[in-house]
Amino acid sequence: TWAPIDRICKTAQRVSTQDLSERIGLTNTSDEVGRLAAALDSMLERIEGGFRRERQFASDASHELRTPLAAVQAIVSVTRSAPRTAGEYECALDDVASEAEQLRKMVDDLLVLARADDLSHRTEFARVDVGQLLADICDSVRPIAAAKNLVLTCTAPEGLWARADADGLIRLFLNLLDNAVKNTSQGRVSASASVQGDLIEVAVDDTGSGIALDHLDRIFDRFYRIDGSRSAGGTGLGLALAQEVARAHGGEITVSSQVGVGSKFVFRLPT
Ligand code: ADP
Repeated sequence: TWAPIDRICKTAQRVSTQDLSERIGLTNTSDEVGRLAAALDSMLERIEGGFRRERQFASDASHELRTPLAAVQAIVSVTRSAPRTAGEYECALDDVASEAEQLRKMVDDLLVLARADDLSHRTEFARVDVGQLLADICDSVRPIAAAKNLVLTCTAPEGLWARADADGLIRLFLNLLDNAVKNTSQGRVSASASVQGDLIEVAVDDTGSGIALDHLDRIFDRFYRIDGSRSAGGTGLGLALAQEVARAHGGEITVSSQVGVGSKFVFRLPT
């Protein structure tokens, strides 16, 4: 057995980005050196977890990007395997375009996610009127809701100021509203902003399909989609992104939902 400081040194020398599993494991000392060793061990634990998540994310992202690319290759090779009419070529091009659109959405969302990762380290948040912003986003989504015969209401007083990243909040509100409209076939979508104690609360409420309990705690995971949403062109990144933006602001998004009745997403932001 090494003396405590030597043990810390040996462990530090063995740790690398390839192997973050080393721990000092000094359990029998509660003195200052023991506390230092415990603090370093728990730091290693967090770093190891972070690296694991990054690796998983890179692998999930590659997998997701491969699907539309494989589809493009298949469309091209099938189309070229025999003479085609002009109409058939046109169809094939439309299919390629829709796969390209899916790829573009995914890459856009990945870029925003990468940006959201740094957001929490940025201090240059600006003063944003959250109510005004929500009302503007509702106005931009209303035509899409109207096209589905849905009523989109917005109750958002002006003057709910917070220090925030306006681009991030726009993404967040757009995602929640877009999801609500996409998953509601009749009834209404209502958005509201209000002050609750020292929080600004933004709620998006719909009378849509609702979300079953076994999906509910996974919908914020990156790339998680409920069946059918993939074919509808979803990336599964929308809510992951919204949650990252919320956390970067020291806030969070919670959801409650009932199948066949509707869903309610609430974003709470410290003022
Ligand atoms: P995407 O919309 O790209 O599929 P999201 O991360 O935004 O990805 O949402 C994840 C899943 O959660 C979606 O597949 C969708 O089925 C479900 N979902 C999100 N919002 C709602 C809602 N308001 N009502 C019902 N289902 C929803």
